[in-house]
Amino acid sequence: MKGREIHLASRPLGWPSEEDFCMAEVVVAEPQAGELLVRNQVMSVDPYMRGRMNEIPSYVPPFEIGRPLEGGAVGTVIESGSALFAPGDVVLHNAGWREYAVVAQDAATRVDPGLAPPSAYLGVLGMPGLTAYAGILDVAAMRPGEVVFVSAAAGAVGSAAGQIARLRGAARVVGSAGSPEKVAYLRGIGFDAAFDYHDGALRRSLRTAAPDGIDIYFDNVGGRQLEVAIGAMRPHGRVAMCGAISMYNADEPPAAPRNLALSMGKRLTLRGFLAGDFAHLRDQFIAEAAAWLREGELQYRETVAEGLQAAPRALLDMMRGHNLGKMLVRL
Ligand code: NAP
Repeated sequence: MKGREIHLASRPLGWPSEEDFCMAEVVVAEPQAGELLVRNQVMSVDPYMRGRMNEIPSYVPPFEIGRPLEGGAVGTVIESGSALFAPGDVVLHNAGWREYAVVAQDAATRVDPGLAPPSAYLGVLGMPGLTAYAGILDVAAMRPGEVVFVSAAAGAVGSAAGQIARLRGAARVVGSAGSPEKVAYLRGIGFDAAFDYHDGALRRSLRTAAPDGIDIYFDNVGGRQLEVAIGAMRPHGRVAMCGAISMYNADEPPAAPRNLALSMGKRLTLRGFLAGDFAHLRDQFIAEAAAWLREGELQYRETVAEGLQAAPRALLDMMRGHNLGKMLVRL
């Protein structure tokens, strides 16, 4: 049997283009003992994948030129060499960017399509959702009654982070996003205030949205918004340093934040984290988030590109902000 997969063709400097990817048709290997053959239904494109296109040592190895990219995917087992999985099982694994994947049994997690559609396990019930949950509740250690600011708030992580903060008792949740439509969406899902960061007057926008300052900043973008958030923090405030997407395609160092020294007087904590460090919270997170979804208290959106060939464009579109909620590719 043959299947298509997407390879890294070249390493971009600055913004990638679709020419940095290429499609290949390959013979799909037979699953051996302890392996599954999975037909992928839906795959994720995520900001961290941009970092893996660079040849820079990081917490995950770089993608290799001429080899398939990887990333979260959900698919159906069509052949099983494992007693733990049967054909028809729906599994989450990390061999996305291809139509068929041969996956080791210990690298696959069965998901419950009765709880939520398979795509949700790549977004609100998956890694982005766990990132939001761990970032708000553990890294930032939010307490009821605090004021929370979230950037990239209409995206997969940000929309979950703001809603989880509200559901766990934040006094006020503020979000920033990149368009008037996204700002309207945030107000619709329960953010107390939201603004478009393109409006220019960032400092004034945040002061209007949170006149008494903020206790927590869930940082998805870094740069100028981080600077403005540091300026707005109350004493003993915490920054959950989740991502810095404003810098992922930059070819020069960021100009901001320039006010880090404020962190001493205000006794701030700025703590970086990775979702992978919080696997121990996964079951608790899924149980709590699934209940919120069932009750209609946690909302999510997906932006879906069609077909494997659309995946490179989907990754670029996500970094350009064309997604509302989780960016996915349906295969
Ligand atoms: P996402 O928010 O669904 O999509 C990315 C969004 O970033 C875009 O929709 C765009 O929205 C925004 N953006 C792009 N360029 C920007 C800029 N220059 N300034 C401000 N916003 C910009 O993506 P996600 O998967 O949820 O990830 C969000 C962040 O969390 C990323 O930084 C990612 O690296 C990080 N993350 C970290 C972990 C971890 O373990 N630490 C795990 C998952 C994700 P706008 O239209 O609003 O600009």
